[in-house]
Amino acid sequence: MTTTSTPTPTQWPVIAKDLGRLAVAPNLLDYDRARADFSWDDERRRLAGLPGGGVNIAFEAVDRHAAGPLAARDALRFVRDDGTVHALTYADLTAETDRFAGLLAALGVRRGERVFSLLGRVPELYVAALGTLKHGAVYCPLFAAFGPDPIRQRMSIGGGAVLITTRTLYRKRIAAQRDALPELRHVLLVDADGAPEPGTLDLADVLAGVRGPVTIAPTGPEDMALLHFTSGTTGRPKGAVHVHDAVTAHSATGRLALDLHPDDVFWCTADPGWVTGTSYGIIAPLVQGVTVVVDQEEMDPERWYRILAAQRVTVWYTAPTALRMLMRAGAERARAHDLSALRYIASVGEPLNPEVVAWGLEAFDLPVHDNWWQTETGGIMISNYPAMDIRPGSMGRPLPGIEAAVVARDDEGAPVEHDGSVALLDDGEVGELALRAGWPSMFRGYLDEEERYHRCFAGGWYLTGDLVRRDADGYFWFVGRGDDVIKSSGHLIGPFEVESALLEHDAVAEAAVIGLPDEVAGELVTAFVEPAAGVEASDALRRELVGFARRRLGAAVAPRRIEFVDALPKTRSGKILRRLLKARELGLPEGDTSTLESGR
Ligand code: ATP
Ligand code: MG
Repeated sequence: MTTTSTPTPTQWPVIAKDLGRLAVAPNLLDYDRARADFSWDDERRRLAGLPGGGVNIAFEAVDRHAAGPLAARDALRFVRDDGTVHALTYADLTAETDRFAGLLAALGVRRGERVFSLLGRVPELYVAALGTLKHGAVYCPLFAAFGPDPIRQRMSIGGGAVLITTRTLYRKRIAAQRDALPELRHVLLVDADGAPEPGTLDLADVLAGVRGPVTIAPTGPEDMALLHFTSGTTGRPKGAVHVHDAVTAHSATGRLALDLHPDDVFWCTADPGWVTGTSYGIIAPLVQGVTVVVDQEEMDPERWYRILAAQRVTVWYTAPTALRMLMRAGAERARAHDLSALRYIASVGEPLNPEVVAWGLEAFDLPVHDNWWQTETGGIMISNYPAMDIRPGSMGRPLPGIEAAVVARDDEGAPVEHDGSVALLDDGEVGELALRAGWPSMFRGYLDEEERYHRCFAGGWYLTGDLVRRDADGYFWFVGRGDDVIKSSGHLIGPFEVESALLEHDAVAEAAVIGLPDEVAGELVTAFVEPAAGVEASDALRRELVGFARRRLGAAVAPRRIEFVDALPKTRSGKILRRLLKARELGLPEGDTSTLESGR
């Protein structure tokens, strides 16, 4: 495989860590020292552990706090459309999750059985997630926007025994396919209002019959806790299995990567149907005893700023796609609000263009801290986190407890191995990002796909499928997904750096870059561009953008062809579906599009 790789397009200045606004302990502000001082066993000792032995995620997230000084603190604050708030304290959440766990017991649900949610950001989702864990059952969230097929597919793979959803979703997406889901014994409706559909139960009604506190299931660290389907960006979604020990990583990363401390007000904008919505929308912040803000509506810049201001959000975790949307609306919109409480912003899900990091400084007087992880890793692995200065455009460096390397791949994309160990690349070379196997939130399997799981590991490393390079200071730079990188005229081109360069042009709102077959070059760099608001797509703009990209990237790397689009196809978790653009261009089948956002 060709190893020439493109240079970083623009050297963006390093942003020094802002000591004034970090809450982190002083010893953690030194990268090397933070790593040296860290061990997973120490982190496990920070957790409470179940009174009778064992570990349970929900106990660490909720009950532990309800028994102490945080009992009366808001654990969850649901912000309604009109700005009013419904809050649950840690004590409330303990009582409610107890009742849900008691209900599962009353329904005869056994430990290890799967409980699915198909809900928006309603309180019942959070109660069900944590109550399920207390009962020792396995929680699996689905996007509420999924159609009937993706729901059936995932529930069949997961063997869902219980589903918690709404009347409308049940009627439209489940009722007709109950026969195809023989393992589904109970459907609980959150809005039955005393009149459940045939074949379902009224959640409020059945909960009313459950009494008293429950004893949390004595789960062990390796007991299955969560089932998360991947975003399906590269193909059919995989069901990643996580265990209760994952809470050790949620705890560490909440503190170290997101700088969470008990007096924080934290807002994670991720949809609860996706792994981020569970790991960081529920577990990690609650383990740290913070107040979690939940926005019950769809994304809208003005509304988001109002929430940040009114809730006095201190730490905010969001995604590049959302930030790019805010950027389009203009920094002055942010500056019109009192966001003085905000002290830390982080992003995940896709590469974060340096342009967006710089815009964060303009809009919030804060940089955006990019971090990288996957459904399979269960928690943040690589991050521009408080212990380090930020390098815009870089994913950051591995967190304490995480060892990362760059593995050589052969022409088929398989790791190069010698005598059972994989070949690691030097700084600057592009290869597959690998993580030393064995961190607590590492997935323990793909449900029903053992062989595929084993193929993810070689020589003691977990292979992530993403291509990166590491610089001399240990920062990792995302190049592209293994399947997305472009080989053109002997160059290995990462779509991310071409997209980032295009995004620097004022006329560009979003861009996606793919390689299309070409007899001469091998692949031709092709860009799909969504023009900024008020900008007309034209041949002149096309020429202008090609010229702009050439000046930034050089002729070998800049796109040869630019197509204007109204919107890019994305997954529901906000990731650009480059494979779909490519399939459409080549007239090939679109593959699994179950996570495609509607209307794209
Ligand atoms: P599938 O595995 O089904 O194709 P997916 O990989 O998109 O879907 P997720 O686990 O939700 O499913 O996403 C993880 C992926 O998202 C990473 O492997 C990486 O490609 C991308 N990603 C996440 N965060 C970042 C980041 N900070 N920078 C670059 N890429 C990121
Ligand atoms: Mg993936």
